[in-house]
Amino acid sequence: MSLLRVQDLNFYYGDLQALFNIEMDIEEGRLTTIVGANAAGKSTLLNTISGIIRQRSGSIKFNGQNIEGLPPHRRVEIGIIQIPEGRLLFPWMTVEENLELGAFTPNARILRKKNLERVYDILPLLKERRKQRAGSLSGGEQQMCAIGRGLMAMPKLLMLDEPSLGLAPIIVQEMFETIQNINKEGTTVLLVEQNVQWALEMAHQGFVLENGHIILEGKGSELLQNEYLKKAYLGI
Ligand code: ATP
Repeated sequence: MSLLRVQDLNFYYGDLQALFNIEMDIEEGRLTTIVGANAAGKSTLLNTISGIIRQRSGSIKFNGQNIEGLPPHRRVEIGIIQIPEGRLLFPWMTVEENLELGAFTPNARILRKKNLERVYDILPLLKERRKQRAGSLSGGEQQMCAIGRGLMAMPKLLMLDEPSLGLAPIIVQEMFETIQNINKEGTTVLLVEQNVQWALEMAHQGFVLENGHIILEGKGSELLQNEYLKKAYLGI
């Protein structure tokens, strides 16, 4: 079943068109990735889905409901959660306080304790660090904390914007495994990545965005065999 359907979506920054006729169908339970170079429009696309910015035209349906008119906080309430690029934690607050801030919708607030335990099960490192200030964590740990905070909002669709940015390869691998585990537990994931090889290896479904256009889509494993993709993005 389709959880998110984006149809004929166009977005402009002033006179500059950043997204062109985007068509995207994301099935419930899937791990989907959007890959592409710098400035391709990946963050812009996520931001239109979360409602931080408004498209010029086109429709976005979530769970069968048209959501173009909803403000970002209403989209959070229906389960669209975005982990922004750069994590945006409160560095002087503890890990646990940062996590609790994720539970700001009425439903999530009621289930806060239970969800906190769930986050600690998925990300045990955060439990060890729970009394530590978020600003004292390593880059990888901060990224995990940002993901944990997103989970506290009880996502139906978890969108992650370049979670691997600035992390050492070994940490990136750990983080991708965590994202896969979150997906296996039933959360639909939309992952934006520049790390094309890794993202497509683990994704059920992938989209390649180039200059605001989706130029390729398909199963992650199939895209990795595509001659153009191999040449342009993997240097093979
Ligand atoms: P990156 O990996 O560098 O974050 P991206 O694929 O996420 O790239 P976007 O950040 O969505 O790309 O940018 C798409 C295009 O829109 C780029 O040409 C960028 O310069 C432009 N752009 C992004 N934000 C703005 C803005 N606030 N005002 C004007 N132009 C913008």
